[in-house]
Amino acid sequence: MPPSYDVIIVGAGNAALCAALAARERGASVVMLEKAPPAEQGGNCPYTGGGFRFTHDGIEDIRALLPDMTDSEASRVSMAAYTAQDFRNHFEAATGGEADSELVETVIAESRPTIDWMSLKGVRWELPSQARGEAGAPSVIPNSVGLSAWESGPGLVRMLTTACRRAGVVILYQTAMNRLLTNHDGALTGVEARDRDGIHEIRSNAVVLACGGFEASAQMRAEHIGSGWERAKVRGSAHNTGDGIREALTLGAKPYGQWNGCHATPIDVAAPETGALEVTDIMPRRSYPLGITVNLAGRRFFDEGAGFAEQTFVDMGRAILQQDCGVAHQIFDSRALPHLEGRYSSARRVDADSVRELARKLDIDTHTLAKTVAHFNASAHHAQYEPRTLDGHSTADLDPPKSNWAIALGSPPYSAYTVTGGITYTYGGLKIDTCARVLDREDKPIAGLYAAGIIAGGIFVHGSLRAAGLMHGAVYGKIAGANAAVYR
Ligand SMILES: Cc1cc2nc3c(=O)[nH]c(=O)nc-3n(C[C@H](O)[C@H](O)[C@H](O)COP(=O)(O)OP(=O)(O)OC[C@H]3O[C@@H](n4cnc5c(N)ncnc54)[C@H](O)[C@@H]3O)c2cc1C
Repeated sequence: MPPSYDVIIVGAGNAALCAALAARERGASVVMLEKAPPAEQGGNCPYTGGGFRFTHDGIEDIRALLPDMTDSEASRVSMAAYTAQDFRNHFEAATGGEADSELVETVIAESRPTIDWMSLKGVRWELPSQARGEAGAPSVIPNSVGLSAWESGPGLVRMLTTACRRAGVVILYQTAMNRLLTNHDGALTGVEARDRDGIHEIRSNAVVLACGGFEASAQMRAEHIGSGWERAKVRGSAHNTGDGIREALTLGAKPYGQWNGCHATPIDVAAPETGALEVTDIMPRRSYPLGITVNLAGRRFFDEGAGFAEQTFVDMGRAILQQDCGVAHQIFDSRALPHLEGRYSSARRVDADSVRELARKLDIDTHTLAKTVAHFNASAHHAQYEPRTLDGHSTADLDPPKSNWAIALGSPPYSAYTVTGGITYTYGGLKIDTCARVLDREDKPIAGLYAAGIIAGGIFVHGSLRAAGLMHGAVYGKIAGANAAVYR
């Protein structure tokens, strides 16, 4: 007889761990399948700063979750209340109002209760670096991330895993869900799992899919996001290859949300093919507003100054991948160089005393690059760089334009950094309802099948909201686990 549990949870990241805890809380027997070995547990979760966006009444309220905070520390923090309406407005701004409003409303309403619940389960928190005044440049995106998990994403995985073990959740590492199993009537009966010893069946009443998106599958990226995306470097886990999405679709689940959408960023061309915790944070290259970015043919292709980098880097990352070989060069002159983000110091830089010499070193047609820079300079301004303000120095007639910081590249030496696009996570996924049930193509629940986290489509559409990914994963993980536990 194959082993049998009330609930199988597929994945062992933030959403999965919350689902497991919620299912155990209702008395269900729970097994969690993690494709990765223990050191790589948790998919993309360990790559995050562990920030959570939730409704709160300001720093005095937040302090209830930070038992060690002193009065003097609290007095130095300025954090206003974050209301449900703020959360809603920010979701609308990030997604152009195209996210599934029912799913989003549940995230907003359940955000604070879920944070309180996670605290009770043993998650410790700290103030995000921005609230502690350590984040450098002020953010232009409304930043309302109330708390970060203690010791960031890795800390979050550790604390939730400890809680799961204490609660009696069985965790099987290097055990991948291969297939969802059904009986002759098509009813879900469990999963087929693959571990180092081979293929096994595990039976259950219910299954919660919390195994992430398809960002680590080159084939699915090319198929759904578009040609060229097979070349993208993966910023996070190598294990999120869309297995849960694929299997649920086979069972009749409805694809939902923006399947050609994803979060991306310009990163160093030398970044590893998939995430490596030691270097992932230093790989993004987001100072491009202070220079020009050209493709391998030596031509600009994107308005580098359309906004602050934090407003444009996702589109820039996407645009780079659409260029030949998915590679581009960021070019700066000597006056821009001191303003680059500190993480550029780890990058390979190519310097030259003239644009033509730079072109030769980069293996770009010298004539084309010289023409690109000359056209840009003819339309640009002679001014100082003011990286912290949208300076309004824009080109008059270039295509594409440069809408801010269009300052002539006139001070050699010139420097170039070679970049590509890195994918963070995908937006498209399965359709779930507010009970975290996976819906079929007629919007009816597939009996016994639940999903939570990035695998759920329709929450991030055309854009995502910082620190809302972990929050919605926790909210729907908790809901999925609780409902799966009582499913018969
Ligand atoms: C560099 C980076 C920075 C980020 N920063 C933030 C941030 O600051 N704030 C934020 O909210 N979000 C951030 N994100 C996104 C965040 O990582 C996701 O929102 C979150 O981790 C998604 O949680 P999840 O539980 O759905 O999936 P994951 O945390 O990715 O977990 C998926 C799990 O499923 C497992 N798995 C996959 N396939 C199988 C299978 N077939 N069988 C068994 N197990 C399987 C994986 O190994 C993993 O354990 C960031 C992502 C990256 C890569």
